[in-house]
Amino acid sequence: MRMLIIGPPGAGKGTQATRIASAFDIPAISTGDIFRANVAQGTPLGRQAKTYMDTGAYVPDDLTNDLVVDRLQQPDAQSGFLLDGFPRTVQQSQTLDGFLAEHHDGLDAVVQLVVPEDEVVQRLLRRAAEQGRSDDSEDVIRARLAVYADQTSMLIQLYDTRSLLVPVDAVGDIDAVTQRIFDGLGTAGATARRTA
Ligand code: AMP
Repeated sequence: MRMLIIGPPGAGKGTQATRIASAFDIPAISTGDIFRANVAQGTPLGRQAKTYMDTGAYVPDDLTNDLVVDRLQQPDAQSGFLLDGFPRTVQQSQTLDGFLAEHHDGLDAVVQLVVPEDEVVQRLLRRAAEQGRSDDSEDVIRARLAVYADQTSMLIQLYDTRSLLVPVDAVGDIDAVTQRIFDGLGTAGATARRTA
C-alpha cells in the first residue's frame, strides 16, 4: 500500500497517519517530523530547515526531495508507506512520480483531510498553547495556511484527475474521522489489502 495524506496544518494528519499506517502495517513518514527531529538535534539539515520553518515557509524542494528519496529507500518502506506532508509542491510530486516509476510502483490512494479554515486556525492556536511549537504563532499559522492553499490546490487536482483522491470530512471526533478514512479507502478498493 503506497499512500499519501494531504490536508492543511492542523487537520489532524499526524494522528490519522499513525492510525492508518498501523492498520496497513506500513511506516508513516512525516517530513515535518523528520525536519523537527533534525532541528532538535542541531544537524546541518536541521539548521537549514529551521530558517524556513520558523517563518511558515516551505523548506526548498531540493532539500526536501533528497530527504524523502533517501527515506523511501530504507528497508521498512519497501512494501509500502504513508507519506504525511509530502508532496506539497508540484515539483515534489514529480520527484515522487519519478522515484515510483523507477521502482515500477504507483500510488494506491491519496487521503485528503477536509477542514474549514476557521476550524484549523482554532486548532492550531490551541496546539500552540499546549505544545509551544515555534511555528504555531498566529502570524506563522496564517502564513502556513496561505502557502498551503496556494501550493496544494494543484496537487489535489492532479490526484483527483488520476482518480486517487479520497476526500474525508475531518471535523469532529478523532475516531469518527479514522472510520471515515477507512470507509473511503474501502470505497476506493483498498480494503482487500488491509492487513489489520
Ligand atoms: P508539518 O508538520 O507537516 O506541518 O510541517 C512543518 C513544517 O515543515 C512546514 O511548515 C514546512 O516548513 C516544513 N515541511 C514539512 N514538509 C515539507 C515539504 N514536503 N516541503 C517543504 N517543507 C516542508
